[in-house]
Amino acid sequence: SYKSRLDRFISRQTGIKRGDVRALLAQGRVRVNGQVAADIAQLITQFSQVWLDDCALQAQTPVYLMLNKPSGVVSATKDKEHTTVIDLLARNDRGQLHIPGRLDFNSTGLLLLTNDGHWSRQLSLPERNIEKVYTVTVAKPLTDDYVAAFAEGMYFEYENVTTLPAQLRIVSDYVAEVSLREGRYHQVKRMFGRFQNEVLALHRHRIGSLELDLSLAPGESRDLALSELAALA
Ligand code: URA
Repeated sequence: SYKSRLDRFISRQTGIKRGDVRALLAQGRVRVNGQVAADIAQLITQFSQVWLDDCALQAQTPVYLMLNKPSGVVSATKDKEHTTVIDLLARNDRGQLHIPGRLDFNSTGLLLLTNDGHWSRQLSLPERNIEKVYTVTVAKPLTDDYVAAFAEGMYFEYENVTTLPAQLRIVSDYVAEVSLREGRYHQVKRMFGRFQNEVLALHRHRIGSLELDLSLAPGESRDLALSELAALA
């Protein structure tokens, strides 16, 4: 059997400092068995269901999956209208998985799914600067101006940020390989938008050292190998 104070449990599952857990509770971001939690000393057992935002923090066997995301599927755990990437999985524990690093509705390729909040938080830290590589098909021919503009970074007024230097390699007139070390909202599409060039297809095939397994058909997934996990960590 298993018993732990709520603050210790959350800290261990997420890597968030114990002293910071109180603030999460005050913000109403923690639920235990469906109720917003108020007491950091509340006891958690192996039967408790603990959630931080939309992320389940059960004491459970860790799961790490790669999915070849098809187009027309939402990178979310729930959606009223569309199929989600979670709906594509045939596993009992799929309701506990979340998605570090989403892809847009029409984007395809390498998507990670996990129940390990600590792991996904580490992966998403801006200072880790993990490379994400996309094959992008656009409506109008590419020129060397794109290479320079991506390398230099682009200023986005809405967030008041300049994008980090990105690499763009022209594969053919309408196809580029783009490597980013961050992931802002619709970033690739917005960067091509600077050239009034519409992105027709966006396929992620690599995250850090992890390549999408080409034997996975769209919609298929598999567990990460230990060697893949170790290389990403
Ligand atoms: N950039 C985008 O615009 N869309 C994605 O899905 C990923 C990166």
